[in-house]
Amino acid sequence: MRILGIEGTAWAASAAVFETDRDHVFIESDAYQPDSGGIHPREAAEHMGEAIPEVIATALDHARELADEAGESRDDPAIDAVAFSRGPGLGPCLRIVGTAARTLAGRLGVPLVGVNHMVAHLEIGRHQSGFDSPVCLNASGANAHLLGYHGGRYRVLGETMDTGVGNAIDKFTRHVGWSHPGGPKVEAAAEDGEYTDLPYVVKGMDFSFSGIMSAAKQAVDDGEPVENVCAGLQETIFAMLTEVAERALSLTGTDELVLGGGVGQNARLREMLSEMCEARGAAFYAPDPRFLRDNAGMIAVTGAKMLAAGDTIAIEASAIDPNFRPDQVPVTWRSGEES
Ligand code: ATP
Repeated sequence: MRILGIEGTAWAASAAVFETDRDHVFIESDAYQPDSGGIHPREAAEHMGEAIPEVIATALDHARELADEAGESRDDPAIDAVAFSRGPGLGPCLRIVGTAARTLAGRLGVPLVGVNHMVAHLEIGRHQSGFDSPVCLNASGANAHLLGYHGGRYRVLGETMDTGVGNAIDKFTRHVGWSHPGGPKVEAAAEDGEYTDLPYVVKGMDFSFSGIMSAAKQAVDDGEPVENVCAGLQETIFAMLTEVAERALSLTGTDELVLGGGVGQNARLREMLSEMCEARGAAFYAPDPRFLRDNAGMIAVTGAKMLAAGDTIAIEASAIDPNFRPDQVPVTWRSGEES
């Protein structure tokens, strides 16, 4: 089976082909880079409109090559379904991706699969690790939460009470005049910095980043070297995420943790999670960076699982949802499993 995945919730216009038999994933992406400031929804949508046709064309060319290799007929569409990210994300971007996916599925005469972007961040880690039923820490730009499987759904065990973790870091870096995205710059600067104390905000299973960001901006304005603030920022934020991840493991009785989302590319976060898991005898898996940041590979892989479970969507019911929460998704592809 070969699935075309299309992703475009915010900054990455991305298309992928997942061939299930060989577990082969091809990804073509084109990133939006703001000239200044953060992600501007209108500019991101303009980028999406320009880039999506090209990344899809490249992915379809690849699917055709795979079909040729397999000796399939030229009349075949080369793919068995189109999977697309329905949300959560920026409405203007999602609408472009939804339109492209519906058009393509209709034209090729293949089923359409609507994928929740945050569930896909989890499923790619579960797929690649071979873990049975892990807890997932999604540390991405616009989100931060812990997911665990129970009763046929991915339940949100803990989450941010205000901004996503990457967006919080990006707001700080905008304040100090660094270009978007800020996460990699904070990671590099933190290597030369000494820890600065910042507020640590965990309430039960939830966490908050807005106070830390204000304190970090204030510390820089008060003359603290930016490298020191970056070191404090990483240690504080990642310790909060690690604490709640550990509590989620304890709560669910699970001994498997997977990481998802663009902030998961940070080596210090991976180190802290890995040490925590080792200390409690749990297994930890972080996908390759190309599967952590927004990418259509995770949409194609999740779409394949949904297709196999018959979880397709009619075109007239396939509206996008900018606020699509992971716990709204019936996990059809795991039905029958104990939770
Ligand atoms: P979501 O998946 O919630 O829609 P998103 O679309 O913003 O989020 P992602 O690709 O998951 O995108 O993550 C992008 C974020 O990852 C940005 O905020 C960026 O600063 C952050 N990031 C990227 N690399 C690193 C790094 N090395 N360390 C910390 N943060 C990073």
